[in-house]
Amino acid sequence: MAPQSSSLLSFNHYHISTASLLHPSLNHVRARGPLPQQRHSWLVVRTRSKTSCGAITKAVKADVGKEDVVIVGAGIAGLATAVSLQRLGVRSLVVEQADSLRTTGTSLTLFKNGWRVLDAIGVGSDLRSQFLEIQGMVVKTDDGRELRSFRFKDEDASQEVRAVERRILLEKLASQLPSEAIRFSSGLSKIENGENGEQFLELADGTRLLAKIVIGCDGIRSPVAKWMGFSEPKYVGHCAFRGLGFFPDGQPFEARVNYVYGRGVRAGYVPVSSTKVYWFICFNSSSPGPKVTDPSALKKQAKELVKNWPPELLNLIDRTPDETISKTPLLDRWLWPATSPSPSRGKVVLVGDAWHPMTPNLGQGGCCALEDAVVLARSLADALKSDSASIANALQAYESTRWPRVFPLTIRANLVGALLQWDNPLVCSVRNNIVIPKLVRLGPILEHTNFDCEPLPQTNF
Ligand SMILES: Cc1cc2nc3c(=O)[nH]c(=O)nc-3n(C[C@H](O)[C@H](O)[C@H](O)COP(=O)(O)OP(=O)(O)OC[C@H]3O[C@@H](n4cnc5c(N)ncnc54)[C@H](O)[C@@H]3O)c2cc1C
Repeated sequence: MAPQSSSLLSFNHYHISTASLLHPSLNHVRARGPLPQQRHSWLVVRTRSKTSCGAITKAVKADVGKEDVVIVGAGIAGLATAVSLQRLGVRSLVVEQADSLRTTGTSLTLFKNGWRVLDAIGVGSDLRSQFLEIQGMVVKTDDGRELRSFRFKDEDASQEVRAVERRILLEKLASQLPSEAIRFSSGLSKIENGENGEQFLELADGTRLLAKIVIGCDGIRSPVAKWMGFSEPKYVGHCAFRGLGFFPDGQPFEARVNYVYGRGVRAGYVPVSSTKVYWFICFNSSSPGPKVTDPSALKKQAKELVKNWPPELLNLIDRTPDETISKTPLLDRWLWPATSPSPSRGKVVLVGDAWHPMTPNLGQGGCCALEDAVVLARSLADALKSDSASIANALQAYESTRWPRVFPLTIRANLVGALLQWDNPLVCSVRNNIVIPKLVRLGPILEHTNFDCEPLPQTNF
């Protein structure tokens, strides 16, 4: 008869729950190849069987990988953090739940703050060469009337705007790392405090790791943030369709962002490269609704929202390959000082959406994830070579630098979205006839894209 329960697990000097260690796949651990700095430990398992009621002690040999830094999630935040740390001489292991880098999806617009970081970590010029520089933006009504246009460099000569394919950005970042630095199909399934200030991690494939530092870059639904006590992000009342229109013979648009504002619905499109054009449609909805993944259903719903709008949007939707269309409910989490946990707990720290999910209305979620990455890496790199107190100070410095940056941006992005999603006809008329044509100034609106970032040195291991 199987043992009913186990009473104590001693794991080196750890005392951790039975459920976390009685994983069916102890033998699994070596299946994906040896881990760096692997350490052999003995799990001493005392079990109480139904039949004997006596304590039986048995020893199970397990392999536990030991890492200085484990980064959870190979998205923008995780990869940029790993690259930044590497440039400062710190190796890390990135564990990603998916079986490869995310290859689906569309693009994201990076402003000059994003480019400063990409330059600082040595990938800016190569990416720059693949994507069009966007010169400005034009705002229209849903019947095609132009309300206003701006040129970015007229407002700020140092502004740089490009829509970057997410797949290419991720691949470029990953290419800076040694291949063994990213482990796919390795979702984090358990995180616990260990003794000696280390973190115990268990991955979906049964791998166990001890890490000096864990960096949670696991996105908007971050399990690491949940473990640290953060609330779920909140739905803000609108959803976005996104896609990447493909024009094999060359796309026809000028290099500018086109916004079209309707009532409770707004859309936009921007050329990414000579053949690709990113588009989105944002619409009010009292609930996120069911998850739809069928591309033809998504296209049908998206087209329905803009069926009487300027025809280029409908054409873009028709030219969108299935794997690039998606619908996403928009979420954020406001990091109120009194109630929100710190982004670090012990030796665990959050970066990017895992810490500060924000709505995409300012195009700053990815840019801020990049900023976080270099700021954290700079803070941590020296501290990791010193003692525990230095690490605690480095994490505190990261929080005090980044919180005043990301909290106001999260609120601002939310408010901008709420204003742009108005559906009241009178309010929309004031927006279209007074606010946008006469009152809006782009320079102050884009001040948040100022971010200084010195290049990180290139360290050879
Ligand atoms: C509609 C829309 C438009 C946007 N437009 C822009 C824009 O124009 N400009 C901009 O800067 N930003 C934009 N953003 C925001 C941007 O996409 C995010 O801020 C950015 O992707 C955050 O990166 P991240 O690495 O923190 O998270 P993610 O990109 O979500 O990456 C998280 C990674 O962690 C992995 N993961 C999750 N759980 C686990 C686990 N348990 N174990 C291991 N791995 C795990 C995931 O598989 C994923 O690879 C937009 C967002 C939306 C929704």
